[in-house]
Amino acid sequence: AKNQGRNNYRFYTSSANAASAARLNMEHKLRQALEFEQFEVWYQPRFDIRTGQIVGAEALVRWRSPDFNLVPPAQFIPLAEDTGLIIPIGEWVLRTACQENMKWQSIYPHSLNVSVNLSARQFVQEDLLNSIEKMIADLSMNPSRLELELTESLIMPNAEDTIETLKALKKLGMQISVDDFGTGYSSLSYLKRFPIDTLKIDQSFVRDIPEDEDDCALVTAIIAMAHNLKLAVVAEGVETIEQLHFLRNYDCDYVQGYLFGKPMPAADFHQLLKNPLNL
Ligand code: C2E
Ligand code: CA
Ligand code: CA
Ligand code: CA
Repeated sequence: AKNQGRNNYRFYTSSANAASAARLNMEHKLRQALEFEQFEVWYQPRFDIRTGQIVGAEALVRWRSPDFNLVPPAQFIPLAEDTGLIIPIGEWVLRTACQENMKWQSIYPHSLNVSVNLSARQFVQEDLLNSIEKMIADLSMNPSRLELELTESLIMPNAEDTIETLKALKKLGMQISVDDFGTGYSSLSYLKRFPIDTLKIDQSFVRDIPEDEDDCALVTAIIAMAHNLKLAVVAEGVETIEQLHFLRNYDCDYVQGYLFGKPMPAADFHQLLKNPLNL
């Protein structure tokens, strides 16, 4: 009984810190993941809705953990952001994705873009411009092949600083897209002030078209607005042929989704480029 009491006591005190202990443990594992190169970049193809051709791919990070198998980004990106580890992880993803993109050009006859997600922490980092510029130069990459995906919530705070950073990125030759468009509760005025190339319609709006009238209205309005502002539109999360038909009827430019291809390891994407399926 005495023993049990002691255990209970220990359990009680440690449970107060259990969450932070688990966090520390995860942070430690994430650092090891960087050191032992346990991250992988997977690629999801993007298609031109008119020609049916692959125009590029989105780079999506995965963590091949010896403890947890393949960990999706939702389970470690938030902690990586809190701890600042997103900076080295993000840099590694960016470089890996750009190196891959350069390999694609020897497999596939048309030019292909690679889209890389940037987190808020990376975006406000002092060194962002220099490190991207240096990487592009190191790789001798054509910068217009690189698209950076930023969310609305990321680009809204400190609007003035954001414009400067975006302009500098554009000047380096990169393309900028707004990810998860429509979910950020932000004013639309940034669309005319910021040097943006592409809107990505969030998959939550795509999911229930063509059945849900409200979603249909939103999707068609976003496409029309984007085109009037001379922006390209990507629909993400396209899973059904009915969604594809709707998007094509309303003149969406590009599509991504499980209907055409899930995110896949680099080697599988190479195979896809060798035997491209057209929409
Ligand atoms: P996201 O940028 O909005 O990426 C799209 C997510 O939707 C991906 O999940 C993709 O696998 C999934 N998806 C694509 N097509 C479909 C579809 O047809 N149906 C459904 N249900 N889902 C689809 P994933 O790979 O788990 O990534 C989740 C989020 O993690 C990303 O959302 C992005 O915000 C973040 N993320 C991924 N890679 C990176 C990275 O390298 N850096 C940063 N900062 N964030 C990343
Ligand atoms: Ca994205
Ligand atoms: Ca998205
Ligand atoms: Ca999303």
